[in-house]
Amino acid sequence: MKVEYREAKSVITKSKIPGIDYVVNPYTGCQHGCIYCYAEFMKRFTNHKGDIWGKFLDIKSYPWEKINPAKYNGKNILFSSVTDPYLPLEKKYENTRKILSRLKDTSANISILTKSQLVTRDIDLFKQFDNIEVGVSLNTMDSDFARKIEPLASRPIDRLNALEKIHSEGIKTYVFISPIFPKITDYKEIIQKSLKFADYYRFENLNFRPHNVGRIYEIIEKTYPNLLSFYKTLRKDNSYWDVLENDIENYCINHSLQCKMAFHHGGFSKSKKMHP
Ligand code: SF4
Repeated sequence: MKVEYREAKSVITKSKIPGIDYVVNPYTGCQHGCIYCYAEFMKRFTNHKGDIWGKFLDIKSYPWEKINPAKYNGKNILFSSVTDPYLPLEKKYENTRKILSRLKDTSANISILTKSQLVTRDIDLFKQFDNIEVGVSLNTMDSDFARKIEPLASRPIDRLNALEKIHSEGIKTYVFISPIFPKITDYKEIIQKSLKFADYYRFENLNFRPHNVGRIYEIIEKTYPNLLSFYKTLRKDNSYWDVLENDIENYCINHSLQCKMAFHHGGFSKSKKMHP
């Protein structure tokens, strides 16, 4: 792992993600190194062109006292969009904790999203915010498969245990079932395992991009070889996603679950909200 310090011009930046005003990315790069990661394009903008995603991390340095909590009142802020706020090295460098500590007096709506059990470290801070929610993303309960596709993230069961602990402290929680691997992700199993401590669910399908498609095929071929040809047809035919999206929506309705859909349909992203 190549680790460097880099001075950052800002750490809370405006966002074009629907419903999100600002994103906080305390690091450049992501140790979790998920094989499907959509954030890999960041290499081009951060002098990491020849580097392997997941094998470098820039620790942003910033005059933290410059963060003005009042500036973000009423805004929606997401931690994080192109890294994970609770990477293994967050334990040492604490950039996420420093930023959260500075934001304490804001009335912004803060959403934390992670694949790491380290998130429980900051329960004391979360409790000091009026408007905060904490989510974990996962797409399987199979630790072996998770290790193959998300090498340094916490085991799925540890993510859910972390969320349960956070929920027991009175903090709003959500589970982001993402990205859904067709015929592998069992969204009903994940819902059943988290029902008691998840306030709502979000869903996103697997998004094939030129940079990740080779890696996805390779893992599928090694792990679920009988699914490889199906995965190849998925890139050309989106009808599977339409059916799955309807299934999930119906499941949520039938089980009175609050769910938000964020499915991509052949490059076109739509976002639907159900049971607001
Ligand atoms: S945790 Fe998120 S940002 Fe990090 S590698 Fe995985 S998908 Fe990409």
